[in-house]
Amino acid sequence: MKKIQMKTPLVEMDGDEMTRIVWQWVKQLLLEPYIDLKTEYYDLGLKNRDKTDDKVTEESALATKKYGVAVKCATITPNADRVKEYDLKKMWKSPNGTIRAILDGTVFRTPVLINGITPFIPTWKKPISIARHAYGDIYKGVEMQVKGPAKAELVVTKENGEVIRETIHDFTSDGIIMGMHNIDASIEGFARSCFNYALDMKEDLWFSTKDTISKKYDHRFKDIFAEIFKNEYAEKFKAAGIEYFYTLIDDAVARVIRSEGGFIWACKNYDGDVMSDMIATAFGDLAMMTSVLVSPDGCYEYEAAHGTVTRHYYQHLKGEKPATNPIATIFAWTGALKKRGELDDIPELSEFAEKLEKACVETIENGIMTKGLAALSTIENKTIVDGEAFTKKIAENLEKKL
Ligand code: NAP
Ligand code: MG
Repeated sequence: MKKIQMKTPLVEMDGDEMTRIVWQWVKQLLLEPYIDLKTEYYDLGLKNRDKTDDKVTEESALATKKYGVAVKCATITPNADRVKEYDLKKMWKSPNGTIRAILDGTVFRTPVLINGITPFIPTWKKPISIARHAYGDIYKGVEMQVKGPAKAELVVTKENGEVIRETIHDFTSDGIIMGMHNIDASIEGFARSCFNYALDMKEDLWFSTKDTISKKYDHRFKDIFAEIFKNEYAEKFKAAGIEYFYTLIDDAVARVIRSEGGFIWACKNYDGDVMSDMIATAFGDLAMMTSVLVSPDGCYEYEAAHGTVTRHYYQHLKGEKPATNPIATIFAWTGALKKRGELDDIPELSEFAEKLEKACVETIENGIMTKGLAALSTIENKTIVDGEAFTKKIAENLEKKL
């Protein structure tokens, strides 16, 4: 078979520990035999981030802006222990945070569904994707403990010296306060990313806040979404046969549980943080969650939702064969290849990625899986294999399809 040719390179961001090993399995066993893989390689492994004073992370994000599509391996976010372990020059920032700050994107997380691995919510038949706004609110909050009695106020000082004040609370005893903010431009970017992604996926978009209580703050989110939808997307949604739907967060929670899935749920920063873990857990397994960062100007960065699977890496270093599930990493690659195929008009690249995804799903549905999945599945006659053997089984299935 002639290898599939690519036009534009994918931005390839390599990473750390066990997922760096999985990265090699995926490339060598599933991609390179069939695709003349064209990538611009950035090594985001912690050693190289340290060596380059983290410049490599910034460069990889800028390359994503240039080419439009990236695929990223999980990376270590250093803490004090990692600084010692890797003898780091300093405690480098989270690579995902750095990339997000440059691309100004929204993170969409979606589970891979398999027959025989039943979500904890039995009505869910299709995936639910969470879109999390990744800027501001309590994550940039300023907090204080207040010793009462005291008066706490919100004060805004304009450039021309005008001062606007509002009392938060007249404390007669001790208490706490917090000031938080968001920026219209960031909310607008969030809205456009969500509308674009819904069009890409051909799925309804839900958005929820608590605007009945937060009549200015949350209401601003609601208004910005409504205005951008009306002016820029209403026609496109109609043509695609999908809907935009706004509701209160409490109502959304109730509807999500009763739904059969198959939509995108846009959430403010904190709601998205909490709800994405709820959705991931209810669908079964972190190793089956994919994630994509979409920027308002249409750049895509695909990755697995899980981390570097440190515990498995130490097993690997001892010569053992860990049960690391490669599915989310494979789907990061297929997502990126499909998008590249679509943008560069290479249908055979997109078709290949579809076949690889099917090969993954069928391998599991035929009863071959890693230990973590086996614990969740109702499939009979299971064969439990280690991560590398599982990847090889997927390769055999893929070979049959091509
Ligand atoms: P983790 O790597 O996601 O792993 C936590 C546990 O989840 C694993 O020990 C394993 O459970 C299970 N697991 C996750 N992915 C799996 C897979 N593909 N196959 C099988 N089991 C899987 O989270 P962590 O241990 O908290 O973090 C490790 C490192 O990853 C940290 O340095 C953190 O900074 C980094 N991290 C990076 C990202 C990212 O790059 N996006 C995200 C999160 C964390 P068992 O041990 O029970 O088998
Ligand atoms: Mg969280």
